[in-house]
Amino acid sequence: FPIIAVLGRPNVGKSTVVNRMAGEFKTGAVVEDVPGVTRDRTYRLCEHNGRFFQVVDTGGLLFDDDPQNVFLPQIREQALVAMREASGVVLVVDGQEGVHPIDLEVASFLRRECLDATDGSSPPRVVVAVNKCESVRFGDAQAAEFWRLGLGEPIPVSGIHGGGVAEVLDRLCEEIPEAQPRRMDENGRWILDEPPDDLEAGILNVAIIGRPNVGKSSLLNRFLGSERAIVSEVPGTTRDAVDELLVVTDPRTGDEYGYRLIDTAGIRRKKSISYGTEFFMINRAFKAIRRADVVLLVLDMTQGVYEQDATLAERIADEGRACIIVGNKWDAVEGKDDRAYRAALQKVRERLPMLPWADALLVSAMSGQRVPRILDLVNAAAEQHGRRVRTAVLNEVLMEAIRWQPPPSTRQGKNGKVYYATQVSTRPPTFAMFVNDPKLFGDTYRRFIERRFREGLGFRGTPLRFLWRGRR
Ligand code: GDP
Repeated sequence: FPIIAVLGRPNVGKSTVVNRMAGEFKTGAVVEDVPGVTRDRTYRLCEHNGRFFQVVDTGGLLFDDDPQNVFLPQIREQALVAMREASGVVLVVDGQEGVHPIDLEVASFLRRECLDATDGSSPPRVVVAVNKCESVRFGDAQAAEFWRLGLGEPIPVSGIHGGGVAEVLDRLCEEIPEAQPRRMDENGRWILDEPPDDLEAGILNVAIIGRPNVGKSSLLNRFLGSERAIVSEVPGTTRDAVDELLVVTDPRTGDEYGYRLIDTAGIRRKKSISYGTEFFMINRAFKAIRRADVVLLVLDMTQGVYEQDATLAERIADEGRACIIVGNKWDAVEGKDDRAYRAALQKVRERLPMLPWADALLVSAMSGQRVPRILDLVNAAAEQHGRRVRTAVLNEVLMEAIRWQPPPSTRQGKNGKVYYATQVSTRPPTFAMFVNDPKLFGDTYRRFIERRFREGLGFRGTPLRFLWRGRR
């Protein structure tokens, strides 16, 4: 998530402003406070107009508690640390006290670092928030003095009343790209332990995972050996992981598709796997899932679906990855007519209930049957995974669903109300559902909404995330 650093001398009301920013949910609640990397920095996850970011109160770092004992080199150093990672900076000043010499000092530093950056980096947006401007009449007049800081139009705010804070956020958001939150735990809270990996332009990260001997390396060889493929080895992120780049030309259109096959060393290295424990198999697979956009979950159709297959499937869904279920060794299964094919798929689905949205097909890595079709499904799933739906369309589907089946009411006669939905991110598609009280929406109703979203909007091949947010 993009970071917004909040600076200001002591007693300007910085923490009140920070609390306001973090609390500036029109309908939702503060999602989570995440302990910072350093002991005394707290990152608060905030949302404003569909953009997610973290607000860092640099307070304790910039200044000593004693306002008289301000140590300027320290300001500089700490502000620099905060700003190096920030997309936006808010300088909070005191509208009743006027411009303080330290404000000027900090401002000149910010001008140099943020406005006049010449090294081609994209500097953070700086906004001056003039606090303690609660009086509507005097607010602008109070703020006007702060043009002197040379950081653009000062915005009058009131930390205690909340006025002006939305404008500050609006101003910051102009520069902040719509964020893509990646992972959520089972309680629906965001996990921020790793930055989102950037999807290289046009190249899909594909992981081939499955138990030993299901035919992963046979499948890999099929992909890499196909005549239409160009292959090159690229080092993966871990020392012994090797990725392979596969470029496939569609003979019909001449279009080229790029796939980075993840951790192919782990697939090929049979020896270590055969005496490796299940732990290492699972561990390696989990790492590959994390790095993937699309996961191929390979099963052995001569054996059926095992506990471990379900473990892997669950992880794929938890991580929000797109997925294709590939039932391999179909050539070795007796009786392969259409009915047997459908019955076998049905069985697989029953054993993998966590992936109802994933496409599944039965192939033979040995003969190559249906193997090219896998990549078609990968392309389709990746497209859905990164798909964005217009808010108007989304709400049409939502309202239709509610008309069809209104939210249940509690025994106390409280009714669940849905106001509005919006897609806040992709990979996987994530929707914020603004409701009166999330507690009124049980699992059954949530599943119903997801089902209607899928019926109305598709999204085959990708998991969906829903954030249910209540009014405060
Ligand atoms: P991995 O451990 O998942 O990489 O599995 P391998 O690709 O090494 O395959 C394990 C065994 O299954 C080998 O003996 C393969 O020859 C065999 N195998 C792989 N794919 C198929 C298939 O499509 N059909 C049949 N009949 N055997 C296969």
